[in-house]
Amino acid sequence: RDSKVNQNLLENYSFIQYKKQLENVEIVKQRLGRPLTYAEKILYGHLNDPHNQEIERGVSYLKLRPDRVACQDATAQMAILQFMSAGLPQVATPTTVHCDHLIQAQIGGAKDLARAVDLNKEVYDFLATATAKYNIGFWKPGSGIIHQIVLENYAFPGALIIGTDSHTPNAGGLGQLAIGVGGADAVDVMADLPWELKAPKILGVKLTGKMNGWTSPKDIILKLAGITTVKGGTGKIVEYFGDGVDTFSCTGMGTICNMGAEIGATTSVFPFNKSMVDYLNATGRSKIADFAKLYNNDYLKADEGAEYDEVIEIDLNTLEPHVNGPFTPDLATPISKLKEVAIENDWPLDVKVGLIGSCTNSSYEDMTRSASIIKNAAEHGVKAKSLFTVTPGSEQIRATIARDGQLQTFEEFGGVVLANACGPCIGQWDRQDIKKGDKNTIVSSYNRNFTSRNDGNPQTHAFVASPELTTAFAIAGDLRFNPITDKLVGSDGKEFLLQPPSGEGLPTRGYDAGENTYQAPPADREAVNVQIAPESDRLQRLTPFEAWNGKDAENLPILIKSKGKTTTDHISMAGPWLKYRGHLENISNNYMIGAINAENDKANHVKNYYTGEYKGVPDTARDYKAQGQKWVVIGGENFGEGSSREHAALEPRYLGGFAIITKSFARIHETNLKKQGLLPLNFVDPAAYDRINPDDTVDILGLTTLAPGKNVTLRIHTKAGETWETPLSHTYNTEQIEWFKYGSALNKMAAK
Ligand code: SF4
Repeated sequence: RDSKVNQNLLENYSFIQYKKQLENVEIVKQRLGRPLTYAEKILYGHLNDPHNQEIERGVSYLKLRPDRVACQDATAQMAILQFMSAGLPQVATPTTVHCDHLIQAQIGGAKDLARAVDLNKEVYDFLATATAKYNIGFWKPGSGIIHQIVLENYAFPGALIIGTDSHTPNAGGLGQLAIGVGGADAVDVMADLPWELKAPKILGVKLTGKMNGWTSPKDIILKLAGITTVKGGTGKIVEYFGDGVDTFSCTGMGTICNMGAEIGATTSVFPFNKSMVDYLNATGRSKIADFAKLYNNDYLKADEGAEYDEVIEIDLNTLEPHVNGPFTPDLATPISKLKEVAIENDWPLDVKVGLIGSCTNSSYEDMTRSASIIKNAAEHGVKAKSLFTVTPGSEQIRATIARDGQLQTFEEFGGVVLANACGPCIGQWDRQDIKKGDKNTIVSSYNRNFTSRNDGNPQTHAFVASPELTTAFAIAGDLRFNPITDKLVGSDGKEFLLQPPSGEGLPTRGYDAGENTYQAPPADREAVNVQIAPESDRLQRLTPFEAWNGKDAENLPILIKSKGKTTTDHISMAGPWLKYRGHLENISNNYMIGAINAENDKANHVKNYYTGEYKGVPDTARDYKAQGQKWVVIGGENFGEGSSREHAALEPRYLGGFAIITKSFARIHETNLKKQGLLPLNFVDPAAYDRINPDDTVDILGLTTLAPGKNVTLRIHTKAGETWETPLSHTYNTEQIEWFKYGSALNKMAAK
């Protein structure tokens, strides 16, 4: 149990720390005096300070030390730019970057990839050189989807990883806690700051029995989503247990954990078991499997009598295949009811496209089971009625199914094999078969099916199902088709029932790695020059923000007093702005353009305090900035709710904001503001919000003695010359006050 075992085959500097983690678990167990669930063990095993950490599920904020960080290409850009601005020589925690989100599906794998490499060249060049410089593993375009690569190479039982993508929990299928975070959190961990997470509640899901016929692991999570709804997992980790967990594959468990994101769960996890050992062996990691076996009885499973905050039971013997949607992943319909429900709801019955693969369902098992159905149909002379696409999750999967014949089966069936990337799952799909606005149905084995997600058409009714069922729909071309009971007509005119899918969990000949798409950081990183073209409109180096001048702030104009809901989408819109995620100056042109000005009920229309001129919010902020004038924003309740997007905090800081003063904040946004050196402050008296006029100016007093728990004062000067004061509270702790003083958390790190 004392061995030094590498976390993976690609890094010679990262090791598995079971011994230390188990020691931490023992310390916590003694303190709490109760048995722990498996998820709790992993969390508490990674505590920064197990002796003193307050631990109450659903209440305390845990300070954690994750084993690694994974970033996808869209979110990695700003995360790495921020990391660079800290001036540190290399990342403190093993990190990888994966090029998967920026590849558009148009005609098929190789050509689409070549086009994306050309279109996104400057982003890829930046990521390739920055990762080399800062000792980060780089997975080039074409390597596959982040979560599949993590499962194949980096995940191991008992680990804690964070990833800048919401489906990071996929790796829970290999017994680890893998949690999706915003870029700011990733930067903290890269820079050696502990990572904070509200101690999640634990939702136990007990699986009993064994699946059969057309039912597959995807149906477990589709069923669960129907029970919990999209919000049911919020603030919780889903921990699976019961005899049923030992009856299916590790990649199947990955699928289930992946889609835990659809019920809002912090993450999902399965306890270490035989299927994980098989998968680790098949992916060349027998040493890890052997090491994990030594910790199986104490670290890698729940204690006897561990208590869950709630328990849901699913009987796999009777579980039916499900189809979820349209427009939301929690609208779950068992296949036996689908015909009736589809007709009742007037859903378009022709299935136009069946799409299998993606990070959710592109394992070897998924591919072989889908291919088995196609072969069975082909034996009866039947081909696809719908269009059919296949997205391999990784180059390894693509190469293996190319070698073993499934890829050929898909192509002979009329399928298009797309690049190893996100493609249609994230709307990177140049769909040609219908016009925008046409009402139509598609079925995919993906995870999300919100309006417009796949093809930008709000009239597309997108359903999610297992790859097996998706394939069956593509064969029948009809949403009313139930492969368990409904017959098809073969080319000989005879009716036949499709055979239930069959396939191999793991390739008997082993995986074929395919093309080498990994770039390890070079030994001599000093010489690497990070490539950012000065004229680029997509990437821009960050300059560290200036430190606080040590004085109270006086006479600050109010950039905008926002009214009603102000989410991160109002603060920093997504959509076309995503292109500028690596360019703070350009993306700042969307700052608060969606927020409603309390003065005139208009969006993006505010008055310049000094000139009286009305302009857009970013333009007015820029005018203030040009004069060296700091400003504040006034906001209402739960300001900054929504995503963990760090741009919503970087932009006001870049544009010269000093404080954001609200009735209350969404917690992640509040922390992000603190990290960037802005002051998030709250009205102690919420009525003060109503009294403030957008035409007022404000002083913020008491900053020189800023201390945890101590209010500061807002002094308001009205246009009429009156002055009044109101107290403001804050949630700064001692360490965070230093962030404010230094100008940002990263400045503080760099000053160490
Ligand atoms: Fe996200 Fe879809 Fe890509 Fe998976 S395949 S990482 S869900 S965009």
